[in-house]
This record gives sequence, C-alpha cells and structure tokens, in this order.
Amino acid sequence: MNTVIPISIWPKGLINCFLIKGDHKHILVDTGLPGSEHKIFKQLEEHKIDKADIGLIIITHGHIDHYGSAARLKKLLNVPILAHQSDLEAYTSGKADITTLKPNKPQWRLFKAMIKDQKVRAFQPDILMEDDTEFSLNNWGIRGKVIHTPGHTPGSISIILDNGKAIIMDMLASGILLGGVMFNSRIKHPPFHDDLKQLKSSFEKVISENGSLYYLGHGGPVNRELVIKYYDKYFKEKNLI
Ligand SMILES: [Zn+2]
Ligand SMILES: [Zn+2]
Repeated sequence: MNTVIPISIWPKGLINCFLIKGDHKHILVDTGLPGSEHKIFKQLEEHKIDKADIGLIIITHGHIDHYGSAARLKKLLNVPILAHQSDLEAYTSGKADITTLKPNKPQWRLFKAMIKDQKVRAFQPDILMEDDTEFSLNNWGIRGKVIHTPGHTPGSISIILDNGKAIIMDMLASGILLGGVMFNSRIKHPPFHDDLKQLKSSFEKVISENGSLYYLGHGGPVNRELVIKYYDKYFKEKNLI
C-alpha cells in the first residue's frame, strides 16, 4: 500500500508537502519554504520514516512555498530531483516567475507581494519531464505515475497512484485563508492560476484517472466529488464550459 503522509510546513494544512511510502524507497513531494528541512525531518521521524529510505524528491511546480528547500534537501538526502521542464527557469534562478501570477482573489495580492522579492537557493533538477510525457514511479516500489498538469504554472505536475490517491497540489485549495484551519471541505481557488484553459484540460486529465482522494498544497485532502464540483463551478463561472 503506497500511503501518502502529509507533512506540514505551516500548521493546520496552510502549506503542505507529502511523503509517499514505497516498497523499495519513499518519495518526498515538495519541500516547503526555504529553511523547512528540519521541520520535514522531525515529522518524518514522528512517522518512523528513516530519511535514508527516501529515494527521490518530486517538485510539483515553481513556487517557492513548494521548492524553497529543494536545494538543501537534495544535498542532505543525496537523492535526485524530478521536475518539469516548463518551470525550469524558476528552479535554476531560485525565483518564482511572478509575472504570470494572476491573483484569483484580492487577498492573494498580499501573498504575491510576500513572494515577489524572495530568492531561494537554486537547483538543477536531475530528471526533467518534458511536454506531456508521463513518468512511472515503479522503480521506487510505488504503483503510480507523474503526469503533466499545467495551468497553475506551465510546469505543474501531479501524482496519480493506482490506489486512488492523488497529489494535485495547487490545482485547487480548500479551507479558509490559504487552505486549512477550518472548513477543509470548502473548496476555493488557490491564490493564482497562470493559464485557465490549460488548467481546465489538466482537470479533465486528472478526473479521467480513477482518483478518490486528492491531496493539496494548501488545505485538503478533498474527495472526487469536490474536485468535480470545483471543475464545474469554476470553469462555468469563467465561461469555459
Ligand atoms: Zn503554487
Ligand atoms: Zn502553493
């Protein structure tokens, strides 16, 4: 069973990253803000996960609340990083491309301002996914795959496991504030989406896979019904369906 363990970077689901347990090796999905490595290690310990058993880091997209500690963790864990080519600029420069960030709600302007001038330690991904290729996780003893789900950013990727669990990070958020704290089944738009048409196709791609529980970067997890509800409501509002 490939369990997904949520690791909180900010408490109560405000910012999450995840560990997927594999039969051979585990995979860390995202790394939180800069300086999160010890927070992550402490929680892994609480879950009795030996960090020497981590075999791969996956970075889901080029926002610093997700790849801020990638360079440090790559070094400390001595493992490769997988990411998508289309967000490469953010990874190799250590700066999120905020020119394309469109706040979905006025309050996210604050968040945009917060990350605007932040620069984090850059890294070079070791495994680069290109275009719409899929990446199998079988080598780590994980029955599942990584798929390209652009829209939130051009290089956003999601993880779909055969057991119905999926990690779709910032495709949507839930709860109040940035997600979390309360009302976790109340879905909401993440702070930003780059390209709504791409996002719509990505939702269709994710929904066409047989998922039942979806883990998010902010808030969550949410069930299939809520993902479909979000898709219907959001893209109808935007006149895209
Ligand atoms: Zn994001
Ligand atoms: Zn995020």
